[in-house]
Amino acid sequence: MAPAAKTNIALTIPEPGKFELVERPYPHIKSGYAIIKTEIAPICLEGSRIWSEHDFEFHDDPEHLGHEGVGTVDEVLPGSNFSVGDRVIVFQGDHCGHCHACTQALSPTYCDANDPDLRGVDGSAMKGIQNRNESPSGGFAMERYRIAPEANLIRIPDALDFRYAASANCSFGVGFSNQEAMDVKAGDTILVGGVGFIALGHIISALYRNATVIALARNPYRIDLMRRMGVEHIVNPDDDDWLEQVLALSYKGQGVDVAIDGSGVTYYQEKLMKAVRKYGQVNFSGHTPGAHLELSPLHHVIDPAHTLFGQHDVRAKDRERMVRALCNPKVQAMVDVMITHEFPMSRAGEAFDIQVGKQCGKVYLWTQQ
Ligand SMILES: [Zn+2]
Ligand SMILES: [Zn+2]
Repeated sequence: MAPAAKTNIALTIPEPGKFELVERPYPHIKSGYAIIKTEIAPICLEGSRIWSEHDFEFHDDPEHLGHEGVGTVDEVLPGSNFSVGDRVIVFQGDHCGHCHACTQALSPTYCDANDPDLRGVDGSAMKGIQNRNESPSGGFAMERYRIAPEANLIRIPDALDFRYAASANCSFGVGFSNQEAMDVKAGDTILVGGVGFIALGHIISALYRNATVIALARNPYRIDLMRRMGVEHIVNPDDDDWLEQVLALSYKGQGVDVAIDGSGVTYYQEKLMKAVRKYGQVNFSGHTPGAHLELSPLHHVIDPAHTLFGQHDVRAKDRERMVRALCNPKVQAMVDVMITHEFPMSRAGEAFDIQVGKQCGKVYLWTQQ
């Protein structure tokens, strides 16, 4: 009897608060792509507004979910630089090889192939990957088998566990790459606000760089995580004198070198901008749909000489240094604190509920279980 044909299992969210695992045919690939057997798909927006409100980004929908992940190469075509069995991190999105982001080794989110205005919703990002490969499945991370362009894979060193490597996307990875771009270094004072898994990733990166971290935070669960990571200074943003408290912790009271928002919420963004020293940097790493900051170029940028910066994802040029950082035992100890929950994909609903409740750090789904 012939062995049964390999199939794929994908996670879907047909209606808010309900998930289903559906069977689909095993993916097909074309030259330049690999099929990855995903082991861990960390939860990003799937466990917040997608689960509770069915509010999707352009690249996902009820049938197609997940963009973060690590796994093992399951199939490549002749001539590939990868081999079956290679353990890899997948950086989300496609790779055109010719645009500014691709030629300058920037984040693949900014590749022309991932721009819905240039390629259309069905031709960009993860949907574009699945459609360009004429595949019946595999564009997305919350599937047992996933397609990725080889240019957006990096091999995981043998000594590095999948659990640590899986923080390379929208948690530690985003923090690390934003801080490389901003040149955060030892002696800097970093203020973070709106602390969820993005800001926790920033905190790990800042402590790895021997920067001093101050957090504006109110959620006791996440304050406990930060204390366990080694954050010494927590300021309650509801305190009338929150700004004086933050300034007193900065060099000569002049303000922090870098302020980082992980939430996309104006409550934090407005406060963070006030606490930065002259010529300091303001970083936006979180986003909330519909949030609009009142911004005066004179008062918020020119008068304080602030640089505003933000970036999704991880620049290709930062991948190797980020993987090296993940091999550091102190970074691993902090990532262990950040990963508060792990579930088999067959129990994804419990994982999403926990993330909606905000009593968590980063939550992982093990897609093969
Ligand atoms: Zn490109
Ligand atoms: Zn993400």
